[in-house]
Amino acid sequence: HAKQQGKAQYAIFKPIMHTQALERLEVESSLRKALEKQEFYLYYQPIISFKTSQLIGFEALLRWHHPTQGWISPATFIPIAEETGLIVSLGQWVLQEACHQISIWQSHFPFSEPLKVSVNISSFQLNQMDFVEQVKKVLEESKIKASQLNLEITETVIMNNIESTSFKLQCLQKLGVKISIDDFGTGYSSLNYLQQLPIDILKIDRSFVRRLESNPSEFQIIEAIIKLGNILGMETLAEGIETSEQYNLIQSLGVDYAQGFIFSKPLNKSLVEQTLYSLFQSSSLTWNFNDYVN
Ligand code: C2E
Ligand code: MG
Ligand code: MG
Ligand code: MG
Repeated sequence: HAKQQGKAQYAIFKPIMHTQALERLEVESSLRKALEKQEFYLYYQPIISFKTSQLIGFEALLRWHHPTQGWISPATFIPIAEETGLIVSLGQWVLQEACHQISIWQSHFPFSEPLKVSVNISSFQLNQMDFVEQVKKVLEESKIKASQLNLEITETVIMNNIESTSFKLQCLQKLGVKISIDDFGTGYSSLNYLQQLPIDILKIDRSFVRRLESNPSEFQIIEAIIKLGNILGMETLAEGIETSEQYNLIQSLGVDYAQGFIFSKPLNKSLVEQTLYSLFQSSSLTWNFNDYVN
């Protein structure tokens, strides 16, 4: 109790801005060391095909295990990594690690349909002059097929830098790498540009799916996004499916892929391996979610 009071007083006497600045400095300096100290981990969230109910691959999601503060969400540290420029080396590590891992899994579990991995790319990475070269190098080193790699980029990032981004995306497409627009519907996209860009998948933001049950007009919005995707020749993916109601509604709309807690939360390496092992034993990538969906 005394400790709590102490904290409260501390909060009163310390100007809030100052406290936040100190905390930030603290995070910043530990973030700098975290890569060397190998405190970062990738988690992998399954992506499932609606049509075949099969596992397609995973989205790699970054986690930071801080020595004293425990697990820190990417929502907290990615913005700081971006402001400090650390995101470039961190993002490079993510790309290498994800490709390396999928290559190992592919050789341990040689499914006839190669597993894919999606990697989130920050604007700061994409803006690197040699970004395409970096991707090429990682593909060569990991020996995965370019088509196994999917890069997730938010629409705002693409639209903010349309000239240079569209050139880079075209180069990546020539390599065979797939591109997704992440969190689609939350930023702003020029339909004019969308049509010209080599985008393979529209990832419909979780917020649309979340509002689906409470607000029926959301259904029509998602329907419109899917139609838009179809017209533009893109596949669609719905993020954040948690309930069987959401699952059924989304499925009825003809979305191609799904991702969400109803199938699986992001898994650590060893849980992915257990999952792949049991799928491989049954010689099928069919995702067993009958347990969840009724
Ligand atoms: P995102 O790329 O849109 O990733 C999806 C986020 O939604 C993940 O959060 C995932 O755990 C969460 N999610 C998936 N299904 C569900 C669901 O059914 N319900 C709920 N409530 N949440 C679900 P996470 O892992 O915390 O990542 C947050 C964001 O951080 C990501 O959003 C992405 O923008 C960013 N991020 C993560 N890893 C990286 C990375 O390696 N590089 C960059 N630049 N950004 C990353
Ligand atoms: Mg993503
Ligand atoms: Mg997303
Ligand atoms: Mg998101």
